[in-house]
Amino acid sequence: MEVRLMKAAFEVIVNNSTDLLFLKDINSVYHAASLPFIKMAGKSSLSEIIGRTDLEIFENETLAKRYIADDHRLLDGGQDLIDYIEPICDDNGNARYGSTSKYILRDSKGQVIGLLGITRDITTEYLARQRYQSELRYLFELPEDTYAVCYIDADSWRVISQRRKDISGGTLQECTTVDDMARFAVESIVDKSCKAAEFYRNFTAEALHEIYSSGRRTVSFKYERRLSDNSSRWVKNELNFLTDADSGHLCVMLSAKDINGIKQAQKRLEAAARLDSMTQLLNRETAMECIKNILENEKDRHHALFMLDIDNFKSLNDTLGHQAGDDFLIKLAKGLKEIFSESDVVGRIGGDEFFALMRNAPDRETVEKKACEILDTVRNTAADYPKVKLGGSIGIGVYPKDGNDLDGLYSKADSALYTAKRSGKNMYVFAE
Ligand code: GH3
Ligand code: MG
Repeated sequence: MEVRLMKAAFEVIVNNSTDLLFLKDINSVYHAASLPFIKMAGKSSLSEIIGRTDLEIFENETLAKRYIADDHRLLDGGQDLIDYIEPICDDNGNARYGSTSKYILRDSKGQVIGLLGITRDITTEYLARQRYQSELRYLFELPEDTYAVCYIDADSWRVISQRRKDISGGTLQECTTVDDMARFAVESIVDKSCKAAEFYRNFTAEALHEIYSSGRRTVSFKYERRLSDNSSRWVKNELNFLTDADSGHLCVMLSAKDINGIKQAQKRLEAAARLDSMTQLLNRETAMECIKNILENEKDRHHALFMLDIDNFKSLNDTLGHQAGDDFLIKLAKGLKEIFSESDVVGRIGGDEFFALMRNAPDRETVEKKACEILDTVRNTAADYPKVKLGGSIGIGVYPKDGNDLDGLYSKADSALYTAKRSGKNMYVFAE
């Protein structure tokens, strides 16, 4: 009933429109269509459309199936489709491009009852745009951050043209075939397991067609690339898909940008977020994470966790000022970093508290020696502030004896530190 009412209203527009208009029910059966639609379908009257589906109307079965599949996706999802560029054909069956919108129709109860489709033939604009992309871009110099642009014909599998300039710190190889280009890309990628490496390893006409038919028109990757002078830089590749206006072939415009500056800045920010801003030691969270990883991955070894709290630190602040307190913490951090090896973990918990994991500490004697070195470091640093009686209290937990995970070990070392404070300070105490 309601479909009929809508049809009546629809027919007024239908009779006057130059667009391809159509009305379908939830089974993709046509109920109305404009004259341009009838012509596009190669039919002479509306009766050849009404009551039929795309499969019965269009000779091109793939296209018909695709239209129906699109309908169902929309009808099931209940969402309109706006300005979707899709292949259509003209009266003579020639390939053209249409911009289609499909609007979901509902009855008064909100139930989906069909869809209204409007397709406009945009072949002229579309091809002009593609020609602009494929040709005009080449007339200009490469933008400053772009070091290569390569136009590839995916169907004849050849490099149509390319333009490149040297990337800072190394030269780029000129590739004459697409396979060479892909191979060279894979060779130069630092992390062979990254998405870009996988993409270029499988760089075939089929793979590109698959992406294009999935509806995607752009693919991009960021990766680190090794250059001829063995330095490495971060780059971004962007692939734009288009159909060549003259040959009708699927083509890819590949551009490569140098994003090293951006990436370095980003890395510095990330690194900074992992450090304690004053002492430049690892901050508590990061150090905890590192220690956790070590304990989980090196279960068959002994590791020692040291917790250090400076004695009477407040009096340094009170006597010489907060700045002097800061300077002391910075110098101490530097000293601590020096007595531990690169593979150990040293972090600042906060305030005047630090912690460190000595990796692979074979026996108690080795651990005691390190504790003495920590106390020496505190003493040496404190020597610059003779007016204040500073010292260091240390609590030690040994993995796995005192705890078989970080939480257990941490709380044991922390109680040992408390014992050191209560027992007169400036000493180390092993967890019980
Ligand atoms: P104790 O011997 O029992 O360890 O006492 P303490 O004086 O060392 O004081 P406590 O460890 O209880 O507290 C540490 C003090 O360090 C608290 C705060 O005033 C000071 N502090 C915390 N963070 C900073 C900092 O970044 N810079 C400076 N200058 N002082 C800090
Ligand atoms: Mg203290």
